[in-house]
Amino acid sequence: MATTIAEGRIAHAQLFVGAEGTGALPLALAYATLVNCENPSAEDSCGICNSCNKINKLIHSDLHFTFPTVGKDVVSSDLMEEWRESVSENPYMGYRDWVLKIGAEGKQGNINTKETADIFRRLSLKALEGKFKIQIIWGVEYLKEQGNKLLKILEEPPEGTLFILVCEDPNQVLPTILSRAQVVQIPPIDYNSLTNALIAEGMDEPVAKQTASLSSGSWLMALSLSQNSSNDLFTYLKDFLNLSLFDSKVPERIRLIDSLSQWGREPLKLFLNYLIDMLHKAEHISFQTNLAKTAFPEENAFLEKFAKMLTPYKAELIFKKANDAIMQIERNGNAKLVLFNLSLSVRNVLAN
Ligand SMILES: [Zn+2]
Repeated sequence: MATTIAEGRIAHAQLFVGAEGTGALPLALAYATLVNCENPSAEDSCGICNSCNKINKLIHSDLHFTFPTVGKDVVSSDLMEEWRESVSENPYMGYRDWVLKIGAEGKQGNINTKETADIFRRLSLKALEGKFKIQIIWGVEYLKEQGNKLLKILEEPPEGTLFILVCEDPNQVLPTILSRAQVVQIPPIDYNSLTNALIAEGMDEPVAKQTASLSSGSWLMALSLSQNSSNDLFTYLKDFLNLSLFDSKVPERIRLIDSLSQWGREPLKLFLNYLIDMLHKAEHISFQTNLAKTAFPEENAFLEKFAKMLTPYKAELIFKKANDAIMQIERNGNAKLVLFNLSLSVRNVLAN
């Protein structure tokens, strides 16, 4: 990236594509910092000049943000305070976190016509202090037909103007926008970097390794796992499986599912991925391959017992049900219903 800039070959519209939690927004910010840095090295921005400082605080007058808002007349500039707060708390945030932050839970975000007019107005002004005027559009999936009004300015932006579009899912981006941007694919964060970052946050190495392996390359997942702590997750999992098995425990099962369903989409997906991971390990134990051990003695003791109830066929059935549950959660299915169905399937598979 630094080379592109040094050689002056900057594409004026780029689309950063990265799954939730993989860091497309932090990368967009790093890019904006680098191109406007007053004293960049061959590899990176200096991090200390006036421009770096202001971009770091999200107060640079040539750095503009557009993001989904809720309401026909609400534009991004109305929510800059909330935006700065959210991004400095967690630049890896997902769309759902953002909508929660602006108090519009359950509503659909939008980049509206008023905002596209604002983009025009802002970009027609001369750059005030930076080398480049930069417009970041985070959640460009939310730009629907009104996005067609931006095609001309995307194709031929005023001199010294850069667009950085950020999305999770390019299939949801307006094709006319997609075709006008240079796509930069952000890969999931690799296992070693995630492990090291977690260790740097003060996590013990074995726990960090386990957390990283469960996080599918997402820092957001890793964070929410470290906050719930792996041991809590284990307690929930143990209860979920135990309570699913006994019809006499229905009231307790309902209470547990009630509490799990409050977790929100990402932590729930994490829980279900953890269930799948533990099933795999239990399956290995039942085949007596010993590569299945985890870092926690209580988990291993539980897995030993659990393995005795599994056959490969039964494990396969539960994998399938747990994967279905993840898909339904991703499509915003009713969490309580999804967990209850999964619990019933676990019971039917294991009790027969
Ligand atoms: Zn700098």
